[in-house]
Amino acid sequence: MTIADLAAAPARAGIVAAGLAAPPPAFSYCSQQYRVLFGSGTTARLGEEVDRLGIRRALVLTTPQQQDDGRRLGATLGARLAGQFSGARMHTPVEVTEAALQVVEAQEVDGLVALGGGSTIGLGKALALRTGLPHIAVPTTYAGSEMTPILGETHHGVKTTRKSQDVIPDTVIYDVDLTFGLPPRVSAASGLNAIAHAVEALYAADANPLTSLMAEDGIAALARALLRIMVDPVDAAARHDALYGAWLCGACLGAVGMALHHKLCHVLGGTFDLPHAETHAIVLPHAAAYNAAAAPAAMARVARALGAADAPRGLFELARRLGLPTALGAIGMPEDGIDRAAGLAVQSPYPNPRPLERAALRDLIAAAWRGDAPVPFEEIRR
Ligand code: NAD
Repeated sequence: MTIADLAAAPARAGIVAAGLAAPPPAFSYCSQQYRVLFGSGTTARLGEEVDRLGIRRALVLTTPQQQDDGRRLGATLGARLAGQFSGARMHTPVEVTEAALQVVEAQEVDGLVALGGGSTIGLGKALALRTGLPHIAVPTTYAGSEMTPILGETHHGVKTTRKSQDVIPDTVIYDVDLTFGLPPRVSAASGLNAIAHAVEALYAADANPLTSLMAEDGIAALARALLRIMVDPVDAAARHDALYGAWLCGACLGAVGMALHHKLCHVLGGTFDLPHAETHAIVLPHAAAYNAAAAPAAMARVARALGAADAPRGLFELARRLGLPTALGAIGMPEDGIDRAAGLAVQSPYPNPRPLERAALRDLIAAAWRGDAPVPFEEIRR
């Protein structure tokens, strides 16, 4: 084979034609500092990390459901454990943070260990922001909050989001063993939530070659793992793949800007109090269809990662095969909320591959409400 043959090979395989191998003409790349320990049994290193950060009185944070897991983890800290707060709740209500702050003060806490999903990690971030204390995250879902500088909080039912380097955990400990108990259905929805970060990272206005590599590999790892987890929730290799994918997708969420899909989920979740991960799973194929024609290279990479011919259909099929709900109506959204949600989604401008049009968005939300298969944007408009 000559050098010319080698150079032509990707084109013959259709890769260059699909825009997959060509680097973007220009990009900015800014790295953030994260310390990540990944593997099986890695929580055995928690004491080491606590010492490294100079923590002598750690507070373990969990939800009420993961209280016992928190006790087991806290016990490994011996005399370095100051206490446990197990009141973490979805969407980080400020009153919960204030209750936890009282424990921080009363127990003279000098470091935080958040064990759980996005809800608990959100509480850890909210406390770190207010106290400046060192902070270790031990994620047990695939939501990805541990890899982002983003904190969403709710005050009197209103959710606000802010970005600060001060909420980034000092250490993230991913322990595959902690995910065996995550019920398959919760795993599936959480995994789709993670995939959504990667899909939007691929067409982000500030996408860069590194996040795009992470995004494609993250989608592929999760897609192949989730179906196996449904069959065998303690399949160690599948759990390893899924958590690895979640790390990559979370890193994408933390590094580049999100677009229509995350905006819609924020609006729908906040306005109608819908379950976070399921909302992502339902909306994602429709948001991808809305953007597909405007972001062909990104969609080619999503499709390749899924092993599907078409990205929106591939995402819809994956959610369906995982047994997830496909209709917003089935998870509690009222039909008369469709118009309101479309209005809220266009209220403040944000970057998106396809311009935001209220009528088309209304059709998109209506299709997601009914549970239809995703329809390309051009057909929505017809
Ligand atoms: P969650 O943290 O609310 O967890 C869902 C339930 O599963 C909880 O009861 C939890 O205790 C339980 N659970 C978690 N891990 C478990 C395990 N391994 N075994 C058994 N049960 C387990 O759900 P989530 O989807 O991880 O997080 C959703 C929240 O995170 C939302 O508030 C969302 O806004 C936020 N979030 C924030 C960011 C960010 O970057 N700021 C990113 C993603 C999600």
